[in-house]
Amino acid sequence: MHRAARGSVGLLGCGAVGLGLYVAGPAVLAAPLFLLTAVASIAATVVGTLRLRRGSRRPWWAIVGAETAFLGGAVLRLVVPGAGATPPGPVALVPDVLVVPGYALLAYGLLDMLRRRRAVQDEPARADAALLGLGAALAAWTFLIAPRLDAATVPAAIQLTAALFPMVDVLLLVIVTQLIFADGVRKPALWLVGAATSAMFLGDLLYALREDGLHASLPVLDLLFLAAFLTIGAAALHPTMRTLAEPQPAVLRDLGAARTAGLAAVLVAPNVLALLAPPPTWWNALVRLMVSVLLAVMIIVRLVKANNSRARAERAARHRATHDPLTGLPNREQLAETIDGWLHSDPEVSLLFIDLDRFKGVNDTWGHEVGDELLRAVAGRLRNAVRDDDLVCRTGGDEFVVAFATPEPSSRAEPLARRLLALFSHPFALSVGTVVVTASIGVVSRRGDTGALSLIRDADTAMYQAKDTGRNRYAYFDAALRERVRTRVSLEQALRGALARGELSVAYQPIIDLHTDGPVGFEALMRWDHPVLGRVSPLEFIPIAEDTGLIVPYGAWLLEEAAAQLVRWQHERPPTGAPLHISVNLSVRQLQDSALVDTIRGVLDRTGLPASGLWLEITESGVIEDPEGSLAALHAIRELGVTLCLDDFGTGYSSLTYLRRFPAGIVKIDRAFVDGVGQDCDDEAIVRTVIAMAHALGQQVVAEGVETALHRDWLRAHGCDLAQGWFYGAARPAAAQSALLRELAAAPHPLITERRA
Ligand code: C2E
Ligand code: CA
Ligand code: CA
Repeated sequence: MHRAARGSVGLLGCGAVGLGLYVAGPAVLAAPLFLLTAVASIAATVVGTLRLRRGSRRPWWAIVGAETAFLGGAVLRLVVPGAGATPPGPVALVPDVLVVPGYALLAYGLLDMLRRRRAVQDEPARADAALLGLGAALAAWTFLIAPRLDAATVPAAIQLTAALFPMVDVLLLVIVTQLIFADGVRKPALWLVGAATSAMFLGDLLYALREDGLHASLPVLDLLFLAAFLTIGAAALHPTMRTLAEPQPAVLRDLGAARTAGLAAVLVAPNVLALLAPPPTWWNALVRLMVSVLLAVMIIVRLVKANNSRARAERAARHRATHDPLTGLPNREQLAETIDGWLHSDPEVSLLFIDLDRFKGVNDTWGHEVGDELLRAVAGRLRNAVRDDDLVCRTGGDEFVVAFATPEPSSRAEPLARRLLALFSHPFALSVGTVVVTASIGVVSRRGDTGALSLIRDADTAMYQAKDTGRNRYAYFDAALRERVRTRVSLEQALRGALARGELSVAYQPIIDLHTDGPVGFEALMRWDHPVLGRVSPLEFIPIAEDTGLIVPYGAWLLEEAAAQLVRWQHERPPTGAPLHISVNLSVRQLQDSALVDTIRGVLDRTGLPASGLWLEITESGVIEDPEGSLAALHAIRELGVTLCLDDFGTGYSSLTYLRRFPAGIVKIDRAFVDGVGQDCDDEAIVRTVIAMAHALGQQVVAEGVETALHRDWLRAHGCDLAQGWFYGAARPAAAQSALLRELAAAPHPLITERRA
């Protein structure tokens, strides 16, 4: 048993004992027990009502009022002389002064509950309950009311009120039946309320049916009333009581076999009655006829309602299938369908594909609820910013699409894209405070016979273009972009098999000590020679390898290849020469690979390259993309004894901060700055600053892209340690560099500068 249900079950248990004593115990105990049970039940209802935290207490207070009124009526029957007399006289009506309002309160409470419970209009349930009521009314009229009207022994008023109570009970039952029929969860509290009204109905029925000689306070009647009290109290104490007045979702149900059988039974009931109990008078027959006609009408209504509610449920299901539940906006399916409809009538269709920038960060920082909040807020802003006949959809995650069709070529799309971007310049007020988020938008406008899916795909592609070029902007999908996508797709295909087909190789570029002009090592650079495309630039294929993850196996291959090559060179050199190192580029994608450290260790073990002979170059922007993850990996690599280089330094956006956090021993100044030394004051200032800062932090500086003697002289004069560039030699295959090393070994004071390519 659920712990919270203890009170409810306890009340029922104690009540059962009380009822047992009431029946079997000494007569003197009867009245106190009756009062005690009733008061305890009322108290339980009050406690249950007060415990109700969510939802309205109003229906329950009405029920408490009803219980109190019934108890008052019972007390009056006991204390008013003659109220319980047999046969009942006019005084018997006195307690009804309280009992009748009690019924009204009870009906009000149950109706209020029903109103709250039924979130969606469940008309079939309503019609079924009405049918039940009409059937019961027909039975009550035939068996209870009509016969009494002819009997003369007891005053008609008393007879009538006695007959009215079961009628009222029937109405209450109809309400409770609706509570039960209404779709949704049927919890113990609901069944307890049903039991209470059934007990009342039975009691009132027995009371009305009693023969004139029967005592009004027949124990079985009191037992039934007390049982009603107890079950209501138990319902109020039960933890599921709050579900009684909670809105329930409507479930589409076909007219089941049981309900159909019930309807058929109700339909034939008047005829069966006419056979069993033929109407004694013409007006009696008239009343029955009227009720029968009403019954027939109700059945038709019932069938129509069932049909309507099915149609409504289908509409609701369709809405669910075509709309996003979070924002209420149409979804991708609806978008595709609408666009295809537009394309049919051949106007120009424009699509703005909106993707929030760094939405994942919002989810990661504040949780998904806040992410959802933001999405709803974005949906609201978008909806408000466009025309009524523009379509605003949420196509997934943090992606939205604004689409519109125009009969003539329109220039509306780009201004609209600018306006939508401006929507994001104001922060969003969310529960966690104000949140700033930007968006990238892909725009496509097209007329003609292309399908919705290709339009959405192209807008998506343009959106990625906007992201690639820096986010918080829009990009237009045009032929050039399509061409780029196409070559990219074919390059990606070709790249997949490149290593297996032996199309990859390594080129080595010497890194020179500016003090001696002799090489201290080589940077290993990947080369791809495609049989048809020819040599593809790393600037083209490395990003693709990164996006596809191919950089992980290819990078590992290059690392092993380069390490082995360096070890061979080392063996060929005279033992007197200072040891060379090999410098290998690492992308962020590789840093995110959990096996990276093992890969590096494995390469060092297999090739016999000492860790001090390996430099790994990481670009600053790569670390900024994922500082936490990258920094952890970088520290693990440094633990191995490998030297880290900060590559392309100066091109990232928070260079100086990262120079301090980055555990690098080497800083490589990007060739964009080196290019200007000797001519451009700004570039010189930057290079001077970087050299000073790096030295202050105990780091060495490599100047990249040293192309002229002017560069070399300036760098040397300003204390730069190492240099790399065409002035000293381009990246060449291993064999070419082997020859260089052999010459160097032969001539102890080489003038590399004269051997430049
Ligand atoms: P990076 O790491 O900055 O490599 C230096 C690039 O500058 C190389 O281009 C090199 O050939 C070029 N270079 C060298 N000296 C000069 C010079 O004096 N003037 C000019 N203008 N350029 C010079 P490359 O080989 O085309 O590589 C381009 C980029 O591709 C590299 O830039 C690096 O970021 C990436 N990359 C190349 N190989 C690999 C690799 O194996 N793994 C990874 N992750 N990235 C690689
Ligand atoms: Ca590099
Ligand atoms: Ca570089």
